[in-house]
Amino acid sequence: MANLAHVAMLVVAAGRGARMGVGAPKQYRPLGARPVLAETLARAALAEINPILTLIHADDGDAYAEAARLSNVAPTRLRSATGGASRQASVRLGLEALAAAGFPADGLVLIHDAARPFLNEAVLLRAILAGARHGAAIPVLPVADTLATLDEAGMLATNPDRASMRIVQTPQVFRFGLIHAAHQRFKVQDGFTDDASLACAAGHDVATFAGDADLFKITLEADLARATLLLQAGQSESRSGIGYDVHAFTEGDHVMLGGVKVPHNRALLGHSDADPVLHALTDALLGTIGDGDIGVHFPPSDEKWRGAPSRVFLEEAARRVLAAGGRILHVDTMILSEAPKIGPYRAAITGKIAEILGLSEGHVGVKATTMEGLGFIGRREGIAALAIATVQFGRG
Ligand code: MG
Repeated sequence: MANLAHVAMLVVAAGRGARMGVGAPKQYRPLGARPVLAETLARAALAEINPILTLIHADDGDAYAEAARLSNVAPTRLRSATGGASRQASVRLGLEALAAAGFPADGLVLIHDAARPFLNEAVLLRAILAGARHGAAIPVLPVADTLATLDEAGMLATNPDRASMRIVQTPQVFRFGLIHAAHQRFKVQDGFTDDASLACAAGHDVATFAGDADLFKITLEADLARATLLLQAGQSESRSGIGYDVHAFTEGDHVMLGGVKVPHNRALLGHSDADPVLHALTDALLGTIGDGDIGVHFPPSDEKWRGAPSRVFLEEAARRVLAAGGRILHVDTMILSEAPKIGPYRAAITGKIAEILGLSEGHVGVKATTMEGLGFIGRREGIAALAIATVQFGRG
């Protein structure tokens, strides 16, 4: 059984990315707002792994430092060392650096390609558990496509049975003493493309655990495009904003509630049409993008808004949310009114708000309560409204 108090990771990032052609090595190419390697390091840190040692090319010191900074991983958990001329040599140098730092032989080391950024907690945990149990284990995926071997003329030769075939990924995980010794043994025999094949050649059984389809390796430009889409999907977030408004009664024969004219023996006093429902909703929407409040955008001091229909305010708030990349998912509002009764107008108010915001009526809540005669609402001095809006940003 391995010593789970000591789990390290080697991140292999010394390659020059020849297959990707022009530009920086793939591990330093931008993926969203930061380099691929920064994403890899950030996700490696999701598990209790320390240190995370990156093998870098001698020319990449500055690029690595920037990626490490942008990963937001505590600097105390990150190390780097100069890699070698091959992947195998880089890993061996990393293992030697761990040994020199006193890393225990019964600790675990995960060996991971920098160009597979989408690590997650579940696959890291599977790796650590499989490594602890077996001493050597690799993440694999089943093969969905039919496989073929070709003859020298490029013609179909055979169809190997895919049932026993697996796609091999990283992080591969080993008891430190085992993989360190195996790499020392093959020090002069370079050419192993991964550490499992080297461990196998050294006579060790290598177990498997479930990999993750998102752990694909960024090799071609198309892979980087796929990674960018995956990152954006993962960055989707929803935000909620709240709003509250109140208007006092004055002389009149109707009130505006949710854009609907409701007959009453009083009116609501305000600079615009004094609709507390649409005002609360406007503030709720502005809250989701941190864009001030209704008073900032439509100051009562501005004559332009005198008597204005409040749907103008709500439409402008919705436009600002859209411009900020948001999609309104749902709004809900609570009207606090002793009189008039809201029930007979609920459907009309729901329909009006849905129409203004382009939502289905099932995504608009309109509720009402009296205040049981308590407070200024209860004394029929005015009407108040509460609102909440939920907005999604990003894909997904
Ligand atoms: Mg108001």
